[in-house]
Amino acid sequence: KEGISLICDGIITEKLKDGERANFLEALRHEVDRLSRLIQNLAGLAKMDLGKTDLIRKSMNIEVLLNDVVELMSKLANKRRISIIKDVPSGLPEVPADYDKVMQVIVNLVSNAIKFSHQDGRIIIKAWMEEGSLKICVEDNAMGIPREELPRIFNKLYSLDTSSNRSSDGIGLGLYIARAIIDSHGGKIWAESEMGKGSRFFFTLPQKSELCKASNEK
Ligand code: ADP
Repeated sequence: KEGISLICDGIITEKLKDGERANFLEALRHEVDRLSRLIQNLAGLAKMDLGKTDLIRKSMNIEVLLNDVVELMSKLANKRRISIIKDVPSGLPEVPADYDKVMQVIVNLVSNAIKFSHQDGRIIIKAWMEEGSLKICVEDNAMGIPREELPRIFNKLYSLDTSSNRSSDGIGLGLYIARAIIDSHGGKIWAESEMGKGSRFFFTLPQKSELCKASNEK
């Protein structure tokens, strides 16, 4: 972080003109954000492969978590004039969940939504209770995913064809890790999509599950 601060304070980029410097720093910030998400996902993957993904499950307040997600992601979204809207009723019950891991799931979903959105797109994050589970939906009005690809997008290292107008700078880990995290909470994750209209990613977190009981009894 200190190295970045040196650059951001202009010490390393004094020789660049103002406009160039701003562009350079913005590109750098974008790249650092992208790489840190990639590293987080890779670290998660390595731990999962070693069977070392212990959940730290505590009472999780989804409103607080979504505020953190929006704060974290809005800079990237605003830069492309994409709005992130939260549609969450107040007073949703807390659920037993690993805050950081659920945060990683939503950050992965929102960063995909940003990545595949057109300029001026909009992303809506909804949360509600349904049949004893907290249900969360991340909806975008981006390019959409072909129906035949939907069952595969949660597979490890699955990145859709990057030809035509679909450019992905990812390596196909985000959704695989998201699914592993939600599975380990005893929840479900899936997607619906229509080409040209957008996608909706859903996941559930049970308020009480066999898994939760077992880990609480330990
Ligand atoms: P990547 O690192 O390639 O983004 P992910 O596992 O996060 O990997 O996603 C897998 C693939 O699913 C992506 O390459 C992309 O083609 C598709 N995808 C995921 N989210 C979206 C979305 N919101 N809109 C369109 N396509 C998406």
